[in-house]
Amino acid sequence: MIVEVIVDVAAYPIDRPFDYIVPEAFQTTIERGIRVKVPFGRRKVVGYVTNIKNESELALNKLRPIEELIDIEPVLSEEQLMLSRWLATETLAYQIDALQVMLPAAMRAKYDKFIVVLDSEKIQDENFKRLLAGRKRIPLSAINDAGLFHILKGYVAEEIVTVDTAVQQQVDVKKVRTIHIEEKEKLFQVKETIQPNAIRQIELIDWFIEHAGQTVQAKQIFEATGIQSNVLKTMIERGAAQETYEEVYREPTSPELQDVPIPEKLTDEQESALQPIGQAIKDGRQETFLLHGVTGSGKTEVYLQAITKVLEKGQEAIVLVPEISLTPQMTARFKARFGQLVAVLHSALSAGEKYDEWRKIHRGEVKVVVGARSAIFAPFENLGIIILDEEHESTYKQEESPRYHARDVAIKRSEYYKCPVILGSATPSLESYARASKDVYTLLTLKNRAKSQQLPEVEVVDMREQLKSGNRSMFSIPLAEAIRERLERNEQIILFLNRRGFSSFVLCRDCGTTVECPNCDISLTYHRAHELLKCHYCGHEERVPTVCPQCESEHIRFFGTGTQKVEEEIAKLFPEARVIRMDVDTTRRKGAHERLLRQFSEGKADILLGTQMIAKGLDFPNITLVGVLAADTTLHLADFRAAEKTFQLMTQVSGRAGRHDLPGEVYIQTYSPEHYAIELAKEQHYEPFYQMEMQSRRQFGYPPFYFFTLIQFSHEDVLKVSDFANRGTTYLSANLSPETVIIGPTAAAISRVNNRYRYQCLIKYKKEPKLTETLQQLIRMYRTDWIKSGLIMTVDVDPMSIF
Ligand code: ADP
Ligand code: ZN
Ligand code: ZN
Repeated sequence: MIVEVIVDVAAYPIDRPFDYIVPEAFQTTIERGIRVKVPFGRRKVVGYVTNIKNESELALNKLRPIEELIDIEPVLSEEQLMLSRWLATETLAYQIDALQVMLPAAMRAKYDKFIVVLDSEKIQDENFKRLLAGRKRIPLSAINDAGLFHILKGYVAEEIVTVDTAVQQQVDVKKVRTIHIEEKEKLFQVKETIQPNAIRQIELIDWFIEHAGQTVQAKQIFEATGIQSNVLKTMIERGAAQETYEEVYREPTSPELQDVPIPEKLTDEQESALQPIGQAIKDGRQETFLLHGVTGSGKTEVYLQAITKVLEKGQEAIVLVPEISLTPQMTARFKARFGQLVAVLHSALSAGEKYDEWRKIHRGEVKVVVGARSAIFAPFENLGIIILDEEHESTYKQEESPRYHARDVAIKRSEYYKCPVILGSATPSLESYARASKDVYTLLTLKNRAKSQQLPEVEVVDMREQLKSGNRSMFSIPLAEAIRERLERNEQIILFLNRRGFSSFVLCRDCGTTVECPNCDISLTYHRAHELLKCHYCGHEERVPTVCPQCESEHIRFFGTGTQKVEEEIAKLFPEARVIRMDVDTTRRKGAHERLLRQFSEGKADILLGTQMIAKGLDFPNITLVGVLAADTTLHLADFRAAEKTFQLMTQVSGRAGRHDLPGEVYIQTYSPEHYAIELAKEQHYEPFYQMEMQSRRQFGYPPFYFFTLIQFSHEDVLKVSDFANRGTTYLSANLSPETVIIGPTAAAISRVNNRYRYQCLIKYKKEPKLTETLQQLIRMYRTDWIKSGLIMTVDVDPMSIF
């Protein structure tokens, strides 16, 4: 019996399965999707069995046997194995990366080295003996001085000791020591054999007699009796109890559930949206729905009721939400509806907790998974629906290998399971809306809010006018007025700072110098909390200078992280206001995000001030005012999605106001009020925005009219990187169709990061049948040859950004 194994050796030039012999003992157990330990060159590595067969193209004496089975049942299903092959081809990733992305990080391999003594008699060195202290096997890391290393080397050469690799999972199943106490009769028998002066043993046996027949954790016994472990051990040896180690789950602490009652009646719009979804579930048919519903239109309720149907059919559901809207408020709605059947996968869980959630899914103990991007790989085997909320979010695309988009994976999986997919959004991505208008997706529309509240009034404030009339504050007169009103009425306010591209750098007012990273071509970012300048690309940190490094002027000015500055200004203008600030600085600690939101929902603050992270998902009844402080900072990014992102953000933020009984009002402050993304966000009219934006995309040849693939090159040597970029580009133009446009090679927008120079090349095409094959060939050249000279090349099909 022979198996094909994908080994855990990324960056190996040959990306294919290797054949191994299955020893007799493993033949009945081995299956596809099981992890094994195999020799690879001189190492031992983890591998995934992807196929079982009877013969190999290689001679049998060339094949090596599998060393160990890591699993006794598959950790990857047949569907997942297929999905990984598809993923590797589509995203041009290593097969091992495409396999590992489906498993929790805890299951990735950990390689520990051990010194194993073969012949202890021959070990003469006193220091080495002392280190071993009689043991036959110690971790290699125990050796920490050069002298011992030297001796070790000698012993290895003489085959007195050897160095072995233990291949393990990074985090293991958690087990607790469990004690099963015998029945009374047996306990009395044991008690008679105990010496009367063994007081501790008598205490324990008496405690056992009180708890005869029970199963308890060893920890409980120690706590209740205060006895030591060795006493317990003696009692077990004498037969008073038995011990086992039992698997337990690490339970992530979940916040209290808020009950969101099931609405008595769906709105007519919700009803007509749910109907075709229900039909697809009933028929067991793949269909992709685009649920376009204004904020507060009750999309989530549609998801919940669709899932109910799926569960009734005995099937399972995956719900994806962007990490930042994976708030306790959001997940509580699912937990309140489906209780113990829900697992939540988010980045705040520890590796062990994630692993335990994964096991619950794998064993079928839960039926609904709510999670961020990677939850798309949840190991269900009878999927009935996949839902992507806020489908337009760019975080659904993974920015490292395998560079997949969760939307594509969702559709691929749904085709296998013949089940519907719902893509939900108030502001669908242009790609999805275009597909819906061509009937590739089925469009479902919710035009009105569920509780038929009005959409909030949106006011666009021209900040240029404010400046002209002498107002230099970051608050316009109308917004300041509106804030004051809310403070008087005890209603709540959200202030949103569009921070992307917001100034937080150091500028010399005399010579105009900004302080740049020594390793990258980018300004350092000012962090007031620690008075440090940091580089967000390479991690470089330095103290804030007191004088300009160029001209030694003292007139050096810090533009603080936006939100801190706003907070100071609020304190000046509205000293009575209680403010909660939410940004990367205040939410870094585990649980901080939830705590701040809870405080706000309990009315402990008047103003919630924050960045992107407060734009979504919040649903508080008392919010009647939303202010957007700088709407245009995203507009001017050199990105073909800039207008789309701005429109989405404005619409999302506006949706936070007036979701319940109190009417809402929104102020958008901007320096470009005439831009269509801002004008149309004011009316919350998606359709006209879509038309305008499509026109501009067509004109410039951007997606969805064209597809992009971005190839990036980086090298420490600027001449080498441009040389390789040239070679790559030449290869592509020689092999791709003449209609395909190749832009570049050009230096990247940030032309140096971490002392590596960066070049890129953009492929633009409508239809390119030879794309995958040509790129695979290019990657092969890179992996077998170019990589040796220190080049890093990445290929990103359908990149989220091209700069
Ligand atoms: P969305 O996900 O589209 O933003 P939600 O599902 O959060 O909208 O619904 C907005 C609000 O309306 C929530 O408070 C929800 O409980 C309520 N709601 C949803 N559907 C109904 C309904 N049919 N009747 C009454 N209230 C509803
Ligand atoms: Zn200067
Ligand atoms: Zn840097």
